[in-house]
Amino acid sequence: MAVVAWIGLGHMGGPMTANMVKAGHSVRGFDLSAAALDAAVANGVQAAGSVEAAVQGADVVFTMLPKGEHVRSVYFGGSGILAHAAKDTLLIDSSTIDIESAQAVHDAAAAAGFRFVDAPVSGGMSGAAAGTLTFMVGGESGAVADASGYIQPMAANIIPTGGATTGQAAKICNNLMLFINLASTSEGAVLADRLGLDKQVFWDIASVSSGDSWALRTWYPVPGVVPTAAANNGFAPTFTAELAHKDIGLAIAAARSTQTPLEIGEHVQQLFQRLIDGGQGAKDCSMIVSLVDGSLPA
Ligand code: NAD
Repeated sequence: MAVVAWIGLGHMGGPMTANMVKAGHSVRGFDLSAAALDAAVANGVQAAGSVEAAVQGADVVFTMLPKGEHVRSVYFGGSGILAHAAKDTLLIDSSTIDIESAQAVHDAAAAAGFRFVDAPVSGGMSGAAAGTLTFMVGGESGAVADASGYIQPMAANIIPTGGATTGQAAKICNNLMLFINLASTSEGAVLADRLGLDKQVFWDIASVSSGDSWALRTWYPVPGVVPTAAANNGFAPTFTAELAHKDIGLAIAAARSTQTPLEIGEHVQQLFQRLIDGGQGAKDCSMIVSLVDGSLPA
């Protein structure tokens, strides 16, 4: 069994590390948030006091952080991963980040003699808890194959995507589609209610009809229909509106660099911006429904 260093123990890193512990790995975790660290320790993770302490002697280092700037900050600099991990440590970033940051970490890791893969995930907090995430893994093929061995306890699907940053490219395009689906699901759900349909009856129809989507089956934004939905818990976050806004922004940036029009994506990003402006950025992204049903607090 391996010694695993894990940086970032939030909504995703928490349940992912729990599955690594269950698989028998020795997991050393670090997070700036004491609450996140305590929750991970309750699941069998050993607390490390710094990035440096976490990565020393590790076989593999995972990062699961919000944005590219956070990933750069834990990789680079005198107290970073590249300065303190052993050269034969395999480095895996599972955060969803911009392609430029992913390329910068690939380049710096290679220059320092490390093997690094970008391996973002899909499946949400419920998939993280169940160990059924989809991993999209970009990098040199030998490193991707070795990474797959470590990833296995957390995954239902591990899909090599090609060279450096292609995992992030796949993830960015996937999430563009996800958040557009979430917005359309919110509109359909509210309209169905106002047309007098029972919420469960409408969901039963849509989930076996052409309106179906992962967003509908996992994040349905109406309480009491889907057990994994944040709507059941007052939109306590499983995936924050802030991160959803970031992810669509990654797609919009990638689209600009490839002259690809994303009219719907740009509109949906504005909806998340309205949630953030309304003070709800830390709530679950499925609270986008409040812009349709008019319940967004003033
Ligand atoms: P989160 O905000 O819940 O967790 C991130 C954690 O990183 C926090 O606990 C934070 O304290 C910690 N952190 C930030 N900077 C740090 C640093 N310098 N050193 C140590 N810890 C630091 O976010 P999340 O929902 O777990 O998402 C993590 C990543 O996974 C994001 O890129 C997100 O887009 C992606 N993702 C999230 C979901 C989801 O459903 N939540 C699904 C797939 C992918």
